[in-house]
Amino acid sequence: MTSKILILPGDGIGPEIVAEAVKVLECLRQEHGLDITLDYGLLGGGAVDVLGSPYPEATRRQAQDADAILLGAVGGPKWESLDRPQRPESGLLALRTDLQCFANLRPAILYPQLAVASSLKPELVAGLDMLIVRELNGGIYVGQPRGIRTLENGEREGFNTMVYRESEIERIARIAFEAARQRQRRVCSVDKANALEVSELWREVVERVAKDYSDVALSHLYVDNAAMQLVRAPKQFDVLVTGNLFGDILSDCAAMLTGSIGMLPSASMNAQGKGLYEPIHGSAPDIAGKGIANPLGTILSVAMLLRYSLNQPELAERVEHAVGQVLDQGLRTLDITATGMTAVGTQAMGDAVVAAL
Ligand code: NAD
Repeated sequence: MTSKILILPGDGIGPEIVAEAVKVLECLRQEHGLDITLDYGLLGGGAVDVLGSPYPEATRRQAQDADAILLGAVGGPKWESLDRPQRPESGLLALRTDLQCFANLRPAILYPQLAVASSLKPELVAGLDMLIVRELNGGIYVGQPRGIRTLENGEREGFNTMVYRESEIERIARIAFEAARQRQRRVCSVDKANALEVSELWREVVERVAKDYSDVALSHLYVDNAAMQLVRAPKQFDVLVTGNLFGDILSDCAAMLTGSIGMLPSASMNAQGKGLYEPIHGSAPDIAGKGIANPLGTILSVAMLLRYSLNQPELAERVEHAVGQVLDQGLRTLDITATGMTAVGTQAMGDAVVAAL
């Protein structure tokens, strides 16, 4: 069946990097039998300029209709002074909410060729390939009651509620186990079960779900230990699954282990397997239009799209392998270049990946 992919280039470097990712999709379509159609839409500042809204109704309909969405990035100084609902970033939030994306998948991959870019010693991170699965819709960021109240003695206290239902834990755990089946079949669940009842339930439900995945090994870590292990020996992890708050912190920490913001992809998935795929970086207005942005994070987002929404793990691996090959050839965009190397531009990098494919 033909899969419909919606392309949302966005603002700043978005259109430049997405154009290279589209070259990769076109190559897979023409030469590797990938059955897809591509549709284009407006999101963010460009959508404000043309249609008066950062998330226009036309884009909403296109997104509902698509099997997967590939996004560049949105935002920029031109739209910063607009009222909050009119800002590009509000459009992206509305899209994520609309699609009910509850699972955020953030790989931290460090190609061995780039190990010098990390803040950790190269031998600790070279070849790092882990996936953080973060629950995105629940937990303490949305739990009720919340607020700031004044006590009888006049002192104020702030409070939030960390709450997870069994069904919410179960569905994110299933995403993690399914993802592990396409990787090294190991899941580490991160919680704070020694201090929080919500984590006790989390652990119980994850263990129950694990019974359906006897081919995947499950382990547990308390979040404080997980943070320590991430910087001590990050290569021990395959898939790490956790709640909204812990995942927010751990995924940024893991991303920084790789040291190169232009290289990292991400996915936000809903219950139907529809996903929004995007690099983790923003629209980089400081380098927009110069043709020097790194398109590899977006190209690796295509690999995630193939793996998780289109169920094409072999093609996903092909794309990842092609990226490894161009790095082996010594090609580097400015952000990942090292002393003695000549940087190539966005288009040359995209062309090299297509040639490697
Ligand atoms: P940014 O990620 O856009 O840029 C941070 C730094 O990294 C910049 O120096 C930039 O040049 C560099 N960089 C980022 N991506 C790169 C790439 N592919 N290749 C080479 N260098 C790259 O973050 P920022 O400067 O804080 O934000 C700029 C705009 O992007 C803001 O309007 C912000 O709101 C928006 N933003 C959007 C998203 C998104 O669309 N998902 C995410 C973050 C920020």
